[in-house]
Amino acid sequence: MKLDITKGIQKKGVDVAFGLEDVWGEDHWNGDTIAYVRPVSLSGTYMLADETVIVRGIARAMIQSPCARCLTPTLTEVEAELEEAFIRDKGDYSEARDVDDDQYMYSGHVLELDEAVRTALLLEMPSRVLCKEDCRGLCDQCGADLNINECSCQKDLTHRNPFSALASLLNEDEEV
Ligand SMILES: [Zn+2]
Ligand SMILES: [Zn+2]
Repeated sequence: MKLDITKGIQKKGVDVAFGLEDVWGEDHWNGDTIAYVRPVSLSGTYMLADETVIVRGIARAMIQSPCARCLTPTLTEVEAELEEAFIRDKGDYSEARDVDDDQYMYSGHVLELDEAVRTALLLEMPSRVLCKEDCRGLCDQCGADLNINECSCQKDLTHRNPFSALASLLNEDEEV
């Protein structure tokens, strides 16, 4: 999404309100294919301090990603605070610039916000997305979706190994 800062250039040091929306498609995150299922939005203010633009806002998205246990496509509503400085790219590469590699740059009167918004949103994603809190996942032997039906190998395993029931209890404790 692109932010036109013409208004801010005319009124330096003043917060200028803005609202943007953009349609994003698929993306990759944590080794999974994810999708932004409705337009990603960013609303907030920006301000020019000298030639640096400070952008503050709230980014919102609905992200579809596979459940960590059963792979069912799962929606997560994500809201992220964004506060970033964009430094004007003067196009002077003749000498080493005193700028971090990960510093956001802009030129002209348009900021490209995609990378900053994407980074802020994905930081807010849970480390493991679950379709439901007690998702039972897939059987690691036959691949059956244990939310739909219990397979026979799972039963045999519990029967033969009384410790597996205990182990799953311990795992559940860890997740709390
Ligand atoms: Zn699941
Ligand atoms: Zn099974």
